[in-house]
Amino acid sequence: FRQTLHMRRNFIGRSCKLHFEAAPLKIVRASRQYLYDDTGQEYLDCINNTSHVGHCHPHVVGVGQEQMAKLCSSSGFLNEQTTMYAKHLISTLPESLCVCFFLSSGSEANDLALRLAAAYTKKKDVICLDGAYHGNLGTLVEISPVRYKKIGSAHQPREWVHVAPTPNTFRGKFDAKTENPGLLYANELIKVFQKAYQDGRQIGAFISEPVISASGMVIPPENYFPCIYRYVREQGAICIADEVQCGLGRCGEQFWGFQLHNVVPDIVTIGKPVGNGYPLAAVITTKEIADSLMDFTSTFGGNPVACAIGRAVLEVIENEKLVSSAKNVGKCLKDGFKAIQPKHPMIGDVRGVGMLIGVELVMDKESKKPAREAAEILIYKMKERKIIMGTEGKDKNVIVLSPPLCFTTDNARYVVQHFSEVLANIES
Ligand code: PMP
Repeated sequence: FRQTLHMRRNFIGRSCKLHFEAAPLKIVRASRQYLYDDTGQEYLDCINNTSHVGHCHPHVVGVGQEQMAKLCSSSGFLNEQTTMYAKHLISTLPESLCVCFFLSSGSEANDLALRLAAAYTKKKDVICLDGAYHGNLGTLVEISPVRYKKIGSAHQPREWVHVAPTPNTFRGKFDAKTENPGLLYANELIKVFQKAYQDGRQIGAFISEPVISASGMVIPPENYFPCIYRYVREQGAICIADEVQCGLGRCGEQFWGFQLHNVVPDIVTIGKPVGNGYPLAAVITTKEIADSLMDFTSTFGGNPVACAIGRAVLEVIENEKLVSSAKNVGKCLKDGFKAIQPKHPMIGDVRGVGMLIGVELVMDKESKKPAREAAEILIYKMKERKIIMGTEGKDKNVIVLSPPLCFTTDNARYVVQHFSEVLANIES
């Protein structure tokens, strides 16, 4: 352990985030919703949404191993794994979204989505939300205000990035008690759009997650997306849904996050869960938008191992009915946190859908001042109880849960009980 930590500190960039920086874990093995450290200690994983169907799922591992022994790279050649996976993936989406591009990370997928939008609309500017994170490539850092602010105050978004307020009804301009907050927030975005036009800018794309995970699982209110999608399209721009966190059944009931809002995007980007931990990402769009890009290659995108694994993940989701499980277990988690909320002065908000849950900690319920330090202490104390959680949001005061979809209702009750005990100690 000491040697690994020493080497990590010496040889890996200091800015590469390590979970529990002050007391890191060395994880050597994982299975289903459990992680195991170098001493054999088991931890309940509440945050690894990449290992979507469960860490090292035997079907996914078996298919991956078999394909790896047969053919790993087929860049530039016909390959059945790639085409069959594309067909299967497309069958889960609305009819208009019928062409896939494969890549290896969510950042690459969002980068390509922006390139496609610019190629199709011939307009280069982008509108995004101030609580967003869309990736770590140069252009994406600009449209990820939550993270770029940390880079330093000198770093401002460029003139081609237009930032609208995140439609948060807990601590935004319009709260849940306001009449139709969805429309009011949509108007805020429209104002940003109009200001850009007045300044002579041309917006080609609106990008957002359907559930804004980087802001701590903020679900935009009713009417928000339908109103914005209509306006954006009227202006000759297109709508990109970043499903890197909320896609593939995580929201429960619906397979895709945008379906929660009754809209159909022009481009969908996916990453994290699709390869269950193996690097795999995709952009799915309409034929017209896909055809607007003349030339595209990706050495690793669509490699047969990744695509065989992607197919296996879809099979497991179907065979194990993980979408309805995400709905039921997610409801149990959310109801559990809602039930303890009244007795905890520091639980300001409980929100989310399916297996994407956020619990926002505040200093007190009147001021709603973000309780960042308490959130940090809480995740360390939970770790002592062998439960792994994380924090999100601009102030890092939202405890987030997005566990592998094999998480059970017993796991959910166990987590809520320990969370309540630990928080009570912090509050006293
Ligand atoms: N979009 C969202 C919503 C994300 O959460 C992330 C990763 N946290 C990305 C894009 C970037 O994905 P990756 O880290 O695979 O490049």
